[in-house]
Amino acid sequence: MSRSKQNLIWFDKVARGDVALVGGKNASLGEMTVALSQKGVRVPPGFATTSSAFRAYLEANALDDVIAERLAALDKGRIDLQAAGHAIRTAIATADWPEDIAAEIRAAYAELARRTGRENPAVAVRSSATAEDLPDASFAGQQETFLNISGEKALLDACRRCYASLYTDRAITYRTLKGFAHEKVALSVGVQLMVRSDLGGSGVMFSIDTESGFNKVVLINAAWGLGENVVQGAVDPDEYQVYKPFLSAPSLTPIVARALGAKEQKMIYAKSAAHPTRNVPTSMAEREAFVLGDAEILELARFAVTIEDHYGQAMDMEWARDGETGELFIVQARPETVQSRASAAGFRSYSVAAKGPVLTEGLSVGEAVATGEVCLLNSAAEIDRFVDGAVLVTSTTDPDWVPIMKRAAAIVTDHGGRTSHAAIVSRELGLPAIVGTGNATHVLHDAQEVTVSCAEGERGFVYAGTAEVTVEDVKLDAVPKTRTKVMLNLANPAAAARWWRLPVDGVGLARMEFVINNAVRVHPVALTRYGELKDEAAKAEIDRMTRGYTDKADYFVETLAMGLSRIAATWFPHPVIVRMSDFKTNEYAELLGGRQFEPHEENPMIGFRGASRYYSDAYRDGFALECRAIKRLREEMGFSNVIVMIPFCRSPEEADRVIAEMAKNGLKRGENGLEVYVMCEIPSNVILAEDFAKRFDGFSIGSNDLTQLTLGVDRDSEALADLFRERDPAVLWMIRTVIERAHRSGSKVGLCGQAPSNDPEFARLLVEAGIDSISVTPDSFLAVKRHVAAAENG
Ligand code: PEP
Ligand code: MG
Repeated sequence: MSRSKQNLIWFDKVARGDVALVGGKNASLGEMTVALSQKGVRVPPGFATTSSAFRAYLEANALDDVIAERLAALDKGRIDLQAAGHAIRTAIATADWPEDIAAEIRAAYAELARRTGRENPAVAVRSSATAEDLPDASFAGQQETFLNISGEKALLDACRRCYASLYTDRAITYRTLKGFAHEKVALSVGVQLMVRSDLGGSGVMFSIDTESGFNKVVLINAAWGLGENVVQGAVDPDEYQVYKPFLSAPSLTPIVARALGAKEQKMIYAKSAAHPTRNVPTSMAEREAFVLGDAEILELARFAVTIEDHYGQAMDMEWARDGETGELFIVQARPETVQSRASAAGFRSYSVAAKGPVLTEGLSVGEAVATGEVCLLNSAAEIDRFVDGAVLVTSTTDPDWVPIMKRAAAIVTDHGGRTSHAAIVSRELGLPAIVGTGNATHVLHDAQEVTVSCAEGERGFVYAGTAEVTVEDVKLDAVPKTRTKVMLNLANPAAAARWWRLPVDGVGLARMEFVINNAVRVHPVALTRYGELKDEAAKAEIDRMTRGYTDKADYFVETLAMGLSRIAATWFPHPVIVRMSDFKTNEYAELLGGRQFEPHEENPMIGFRGASRYYSDAYRDGFALECRAIKRLREEMGFSNVIVMIPFCRSPEEADRVIAEMAKNGLKRGENGLEVYVMCEIPSNVILAEDFAKRFDGFSIGSNDLTQLTLGVDRDSEALADLFRERDPAVLWMIRTVIERAHRSGSKVGLCGQAPSNDPEFARLLVEAGIDSISVTPDSFLAVKRHVAAAENG
């Protein structure tokens, strides 16, 4: 029989091109079964009914007419969407199977039982829609999936319900929206052996970062139990990111992000045949634990890379871990649609100014900012109340909401991760969304004016009132090439990937103290001398944050290394200059448990900061943890592009002591290619430039401190703001002199102070002085690049 006439086909006979026969989802399962199992990607066995079986089913029951009639009535406004959908679904779900098709499904199910040696094996029954003339149309998440189905009768019934789900209200809306003819769409049912993830875990995975489109990382979401909760956004999953290029090096562990999700519930098997699965609350232990261990994260990421390589495009996958065998499986894979279609020629950059207080925050989806009035809906039953252009606020983002999502300015939910269906729909619609706030429906109210900002990295913020928003279209082909390197100053690891498309020469300044503040939040000495810590509240909080670490100091090392790794990954192998911590004592004291370990100073700006701390008894242990984080980043994670920089180094003797201290902690300058730079931000750095040059691999001018200390003007004083001028001849003399002296000693010099970011024309003076690199904030990159090019061209 020709394949197109067949009613049923096994996955191991299906290939990627069979979309018209079995829909995208099943074609992809077949393709992976055939082509990727030798490459180690596990896919559960199974079979699919074909689109001709679906058409035969409709025909045998004269359903085409029923469907056409109801849709025509809907079109003319004689009935509403709910009525049309319900009538069509009921007609399909209660029709009879043509006997030949039923017999083939029964036989295949018996064969699956035989192959697996199990009686009435539990199967997942999945819908795979197909449009003949639009083979690449993604109908992701539009139709139903039924899990834990066992026995012939239940299977045939589940297949019928999959057929009916081609006409869920949301699927009808989706096709109308996208201009697909309903009658051209058919449904294939995939019947796949269940993975016992009810006893294990499961989730969603993308072979790129879904938010920024950064294509060097795999993004994994994970929760306990069956996967539907993650897909639907009913739980806040764990999130992991893995840097792909290092996966082929077995000695490296390139996990660059790991965030614990609340995972409030899990879907498990239930006894009832009518409702074979149910949700139960997770235990405290489950909520506190990561679903995946390092080896599993890396194995899944390798699956993702193998699948992406095979398909030659970014992929969206579902995975499951069998709780009985511990094995990981891929249960679905389809092309990622949103980022892959985004233009590589440029991007739109939003920034928010003059904003009100933060009302709530969560994970940001998309990169846009929107303002509007809140419309808070408690359930899909209330969707008629929705006001066009409002900010939709709801507890979970059920796919049934699609009809109103497209009319929203933005979406904010209490629950859900970045790979939840709702997040994916928002992204597809180009709407900013904030998911997993935990409390949006509690703290926001109807008609409240808010600004929803997804433009600030991984966290999204809802601000009170209407903020000032500026939008810039960044055209990448308009960026000139320059001889002088133009690098970025980056602070927030979660926001780094947002700029990955910029053609930068690396990161000229990653201030470690920002990463400590954002991610670690604990004073390192409060961990190394935890036993001496007197602040009981801080102790309790530290206990909570370091749960799962046998040695509390490891928490600091791991969290810091991971935070920095995301900055190091964005433009690898370009250099990334990580500056060791340069808080002032008052800022260190603000870290959890910090007060007890910091002196009170009248002038912290010229006090116990920078290099002086690193070899002192008061901070040496803390510095050791910073060094361990750098070592891990470079040697275990693989980011050998990381250069260390020492701030506020007052004298060459101090430099010697710091370099010795680093060596004690395994960071030997010159070993494993390690380079160490020094900031030039104290007049002594200029005056003794030759002596510093002997001890370091390069200089980076900190014009903020250098201006302050050259002119004697407090950089933070509003009253003196007019006197704080980097263009002052004395400051320019310092800059020109250090460049000249460093060059004479064979050292490179960059500048990472704020001057060119605030005043891009300042870059011209630097180029004329012969600077090697300029590092600026991302928003001023293009302007600086243009000024540098102009200066270089005379
Ligand atoms: C500087 O002083 O110019 C500099 C870049 O360092 P910070 O602003 O962190 O003191
Ligand atoms: Mg400084």
